[in-house]
Amino acid sequence: MEDKNKEKEQKKIIVVGAGLVGSLQALYFAQRSYNVQVYEYRPDPRTQANVAGRSINLALSKRGREALKGVGAEEHVVKTGIPMHSRMIHSHDGKQSAIPYGKKHQYILSIDRRALNEHLISLVEKHPNVDFHFDSKCVDANIKNTEVTFQDKESKVDSIEQGDLIVGCDGSFSGIRKQLMKLNRMNYSQVYIPHGYKEIEMPPGSDGDFIMAPNYLHIWPRGTFMMIALPNQNKTFTCTLFMPYAIFDQIKTEEDIMSFFEREFPDSIPLIGKEKIISDYKTNPVGDLISVKCSPYHYQDKCVIVGDAAHAMVPFYGQGMNCGFEDCLVLHQILDKHNGDFMAGLEEYSRTRNPDAEAIIDLAMYNYLEMRDHVNSKLYVLRKYFDGFLNWILPRHWIPLYTMTTFTRIPYHKVIEKSKKQDQIVQKLITGIKVLSLIGISVIVYQRRENIPPLVKDFSVFTVNVQDTLKGIF
Ligand SMILES: Cc1cc2nc3c(=O)[nH]c(=O)nc-3n(C[C@H](O)[C@H](O)[C@H](O)COP(=O)(O)OP(=O)(O)OC[C@H]3O[C@@H](n4cnc5c(N)ncnc54)[C@H](O)[C@@H]3O)c2cc1C
Repeated sequence: MEDKNKEKEQKKIIVVGAGLVGSLQALYFAQRSYNVQVYEYRPDPRTQANVAGRSINLALSKRGREALKGVGAEEHVVKTGIPMHSRMIHSHDGKQSAIPYGKKHQYILSIDRRALNEHLISLVEKHPNVDFHFDSKCVDANIKNTEVTFQDKESKVDSIEQGDLIVGCDGSFSGIRKQLMKLNRMNYSQVYIPHGYKEIEMPPGSDGDFIMAPNYLHIWPRGTFMMIALPNQNKTFTCTLFMPYAIFDQIKTEEDIMSFFEREFPDSIPLIGKEKIISDYKTNPVGDLISVKCSPYHYQDKCVIVGDAAHAMVPFYGQGMNCGFEDCLVLHQILDKHNGDFMAGLEEYSRTRNPDAEAIIDLAMYNYLEMRDHVNSKLYVLRKYFDGFLNWILPRHWIPLYTMTTFTRIPYHKVIEKSKKQDQIVQKLITGIKVLSLIGISVIVYQRRENIPPLVKDFSVFTVNVQDTLKGIF
């Protein structure tokens, strides 16, 4: 064991990017006694008043929590989160209706992105075998020689770090991925969806408390676009407007902004306040949403990419960070199994992780439609209840898609397989009910035309009831 640790201490891991996934990845390597060098383009967030970047808060769920648990970080993070048990749907007329995410004890957590990142960095820093290099931009990498060139932001001086393994955690526009592509016949595709996103803050009420019910993910679904709101510890909500660029482009003046909100989200105006809507709308940029698939994720025993660098996805399943965190857990379970042999471990990781990452990329794209449109439909609500009911009576065999994705660690590709089977069963059930009710109706018509007394006295009542129920469904 001591020899193994010595061997690890002598191995240098270069982690590129100290975002959410990079800092967790560094923590996993640090706890396994490697010499870890973490390079990050931005300054140390703990020294900054404001941190530019993506969404202010994120939904943490089972996969992310398990990965945090793997390094002893779950408890603290969960304490800082706000549980969200249901979606709260805001319709045009201001009516609100809750659709639970799962069973009573199942919830997702709204987490402050910056606080989470800072906490992970502080945990990593406690390890003497780790060095952080902020304000250092990766400008080149020679993967065959495990060398990465970094440029100091201030002096613009380049320096080369040579190590044993490069771990690319540098996000959706990963420079490490670009270098990897040149070596390993990587398949690659990227898609920009037509939607962008803009964040608007909803302040606390006059009593200093949340102005809307806090334990919900609020959704204003409007067909081709939507607004969502997640609660923050400081009693604000961060509202995110997801909308096609074509619509953003049409909203130019303050009047345009207000008439858009009056038309689409009237109930949000007194909650956010007219001035705040206008100022945040004008000040906050529109962010792009990109989906990236690639394979393989590694080169020999020298380099691997994880998180958004390997599989950026649209944010509609709230799984980007969760999946990136799970990458860390999965990678280290595999490396542990191979006693730290990078050659065997990275090959297995890359081969087995890719189908899961691609599955959640597809699911996230699917949820893009579900959140902005389907949640409005009665059929959707009915299906949720139906799934919930079957899950209640057959908890091991029938697990709703959302539950499998969010509250279990069933591999994502198996989630899709299982969900397809469940959908087929539902389709068969619906077809069966349709056929039975058609037979029932035909029997009644036949009885009435031929003046035949009913075989079963209450049969006609039964079929009429079935018909009425079905009318509500279809
Ligand atoms: C609007 C929105 C909402 C989201 N909501 C959720 C959610 O609810 N739940 C969820 O699980 N996920 C969510 N996500 C996805 C989540 O934000 C990402 O999956 C996650 O941030 C990925 O982490 P990462 O560390 O891989 O990449 P990033 O967060 O992009 O971090 C990459 C890091 O690398 C650094 N870097 C980049 N280039 C270089 C370079 N050349 N040299 C050195 N450093 C470099 C960057 O500065 C950054 O710190 C959301 C995303 C968006 C856009």
